[in-house]
Amino acid sequence: MADTTDHSSPLFETYARAPLAFERGSGVWLETRDGRRFMDFGGGIAVNCLGHAHPHLVETMKAQAEKLWHVSNLYEIPDQTRMAERLTAATFADRAFFANSGAEAVECAIKTARRYHYVNGAPERYRILTFEGAFHGRTLATIAAGGQKKYLEGYGPKVEGFDQLPFGDHDALREAAAQPDVAAILIEPIQGEGGIRSVPPMCLTGLREMCDNLGILLIYDEVQTGVGRTGKFFAYQHSGAAPDILASAKGIGGGFPLGVCLATERAASGMTPGSHGTTYGGSPLAMAIGNAVLDVVLDDGFLDHVRDMSLQLKQSLASLSDRYPDVIEAVRGEGLLIGLKAKVPNGELVAQMREEGLLAVPAGDNVVRLLPPLNVTADEVRQAMDRIEAAVAAMSAGNRRESA
Ligand SMILES: *Cc1c(COP(=O)(O)O)cnc(C)c1O
Repeated sequence: MADTTDHSSPLFETYARAPLAFERGSGVWLETRDGRRFMDFGGGIAVNCLGHAHPHLVETMKAQAEKLWHVSNLYEIPDQTRMAERLTAATFADRAFFANSGAEAVECAIKTARRYHYVNGAPERYRILTFEGAFHGRTLATIAAGGQKKYLEGYGPKVEGFDQLPFGDHDALREAAAQPDVAAILIEPIQGEGGIRSVPPMCLTGLREMCDNLGILLIYDEVQTGVGRTGKFFAYQHSGAAPDILASAKGIGGGFPLGVCLATERAASGMTPGSHGTTYGGSPLAMAIGNAVLDVVLDDGFLDHVRDMSLQLKQSLASLSDRYPDVIEAVRGEGLLIGLKAKVPNGELVAQMREEGLLAVPAGDNVVRLLPPLNVTADEVRQAMDRIEAAVAAMSAGNRRESA
């Protein structure tokens, strides 16, 4: 990708930004300062699950902004309890801890697993097993968990206690999990940043059994896959293999920074008063918005709609992949977490889609991610497909020769 970094900016040069600045959004649409309109199939990286400026979220935020923003966890926050009640009623969990981001939610999950063994007389059990291609965040512990060299380089000693296993190597996993210092297995049911790589439901069931047999905990990182993204409230619900601990974020705040760590009563038993905390996490403002997201996502029929739109989009993409096998090798993913495994460089395909007025996000394994709002309509999916097709056609070898 061309170096578009603006060296005169006072910002850290950590991001390679596309040269676009948006002014406003509505539903699936984003508009730049100079009035260009884009279909947002990136969703701020799987965050804007209800699109931009959803009326219920906007109303909720305005009303709460006039009442109360922040008080800290020194006091009771009724909406925090309410959101925890709704999340636990809809999942395997009995307890919730609110944070402000995905990495913090994963950190809480790691700490919860280690504390569980600590208070249960096995403090030597602290190692966490993770998988190649994983992404768990950018804090020191979560880059150690993710294990990717490019994120660890230059940041001093890697945080101790994380072992990375090859994706799909059952023998390596069985051997590593049997070690007496293992606390938990941490896994994304579908790797997001890693390229929309799904763990087969059968393997999650197998992991669950293995963890039960060995007395270790199963942690799901559903930061990207949670809150309806895959057509179930959480992706693990496709398999029925529940975790002991689950981290979620991204979609859960609909664009407001929010993360959560969910756990069973047993797994959370080490998280005693004073053992963990956050200043901002679960503030009245965040909780008002989080509850408003749940009002929509947990409403009757909402997840059916996600699955319907998924079917429409995936069928159209499969047909496109058949017609342009030199550009798209395969279509992956569940629900509206969709990956196009590209034959051309994924960054170039994303740039070409942008030229056609559609925003997508690159991922590992040369994949282009499509992450439309969960309330996208059938007509919007058709419009998006026109743009995607135009981009794919432009990248196809035949057309590139013609235009050369
Ligand atoms: C995005 C992501 C994270 C990190 O979330 P942040 O909010 O960026 O800290 C962790 N795990 C997964 C699976 C993610 O997709």
